Amino acid sequence: MKIFNTLSRRKEEFVPLEPGKVKMYVCGPTVYNYIHIGNARPMIVFDTVRRYFEYKGYEVNFVSNFTDVDDKIINKALEEGVDASVISERFIAECKKDMAGLNVKPATTHPQATKEIEGMLAMIRTLIEKGHAYVAADGTVYFRTESFPEYGKLSHKNLDELQSGFREIKVTGEEGKEDPNDFVLWKPKKEGEPYWESPWCEGRPGWHIECSVMAKRYLGDEIDIHAGGEDLIFPHHENEIAQSECANGKPFAKYWMHNGFLNIDNKKMSKSLGNFFTVREISEKYDLQVLRFFMLSAHYRSPLNFSAELMEASKNGLERIRTAVGKLTELRQKARAAAAQAAAGSTAGDGAAAGQPVDADTASLTAAEQENVAAAKELVAKYEAAMDDDFNTADAVSAVFELVKLSNSTADEGSSLAYVSYLKETIEKLCDVMGIVTEAKHEALDAEIEAMIQERQEARKAKNYALADEIRGKLSDMGIILEDTREGVKWKRA
Ligand code: AMP
Ligand code: ZN
Repeated sequence: MKIFNTLSRRKEEFVPLEPGKVKMYVCGPTVYNYIHIGNARPMIVFDTVRRYFEYKGYEVNFVSNFTDVDDKIINKALEEGVDASVISERFIAECKKDMAGLNVKPATTHPQATKEIEGMLAMIRTLIEKGHAYVAADGTVYFRTESFPEYGKLSHKNLDELQSGFREIKVTGEEGKEDPNDFVLWKPKKEGEPYWESPWCEGRPGWHIECSVMAKRYLGDEIDIHAGGEDLIFPHHENEIAQSECANGKPFAKYWMHNGFLNIDNKKMSKSLGNFFTVREISEKYDLQVLRFFMLSAHYRSPLNFSAELMEASKNGLERIRTAVGKLTELRQKARAAAAQAAAGSTAGDGAAAGQPVDADTASLTAAEQENVAAAKELVAKYEAAMDDDFNTADAVSAVFELVKLSNSTADEGSSLAYVSYLKETIEKLCDVMGIVTEAKHEALDAEIEAMIQERQEARKAKNYALADEIRGKLSDMGIILEDTREGVKWKRA
């Protein structure tokens, strides 16, 4: 598998740190409002990367944070006259709902900055002890960029270049900096802000330190993949590298992946420009699967322009796949019934008639079907080659369309059970790797159910039994039965 690494600006062969395992960290959203569809792009893209690794047999430890302490959260809390945590908890819950709607799997761990302050204090202390950070007169702690000669290696900038860029910018309140490139690790509180005790001042962390600390805690000092939108390359990811490598004395992430922007009228979609749609708004007009399919129709590193026409095209494309799978489902039912009838007339019986999986290699295919299966296998290989080449979902989607075409032109009432089953299972599997659900009328998605179960577990941990019961009730209304076992919560459809 090849991955384009921002660090080397080249496609590199993926070699995991530990065989069979992938340790992956994706920077998550700042939770002060509903997420917009630009924020959804990295979620969809890197969930697809995760799913493909899993398809290839890797065990993926996937960590994605919620930034829950930030000026925007604090301002919104002040506006509403509530605690900042009320705002962040509200929008974490809303974000999880949107993720579930997009069929983005919950991360192995979703850490929150405000719950990781201890780790941040420890890393800052280490950086000061090693001479990589210093405390200014007002108690602000800065990272000393000059102490890390490799600073700039991700964004491919050198320190002098950066300094001349900064010379024009005067940042008030940062007079204590030794160098304009230095950045904040810890800063004093302002009136009305949440704060924590520290050896330097009552205050709160800078933005960058949280990701270095969470990656270390949940994945270790060295990780395989670190990812996010391309706007994070500088300064956020550059600063994370400086913090982690100076504190841990080891290389931080092996591969750095960055998605291109989702644009609207060829401008970046962002809250500050006001040119955005929230995922929630889009969900009122479209099945969110259409949005997911739209995002995957382009390569993740390319810019992607959002438009109603492209969404319509994605809707039609998805429909085409779903219609083909629907037809295969019908054909399979008919073929099963025919097989059952034939089995009733013989003594041997037929496993397939009882609904067992069918293996196209061993079950009875006609000679023509064998040729078609061989052609289908070539398309699967084409799909995998596209995904192996830096997750080229655009080409992978084309391979799925070719399979759909093959299915539409070859599967009919005369087809064997083995053949229609093979086609159905193959198309479904390849779509599932991209998080695309092929059933037109889909029940609550597994991801949605799992997100609700996780929410219930958290409510129980916080001893909020009323909320836990309410979630159980909602799940029960959806026909989901929960079972609390020693290994955790199991669920099934009623
Ligand atoms: P933020 O909440 O701004 O920190 O963003 C969360 C994630 O969304 C980061 O990985 C950003 O890079 C990404 N992001 C924000 N806007 C866009 C956009 N218009 N297109 C693609 N990714 C974006
Ligand atoms: Zn981050």
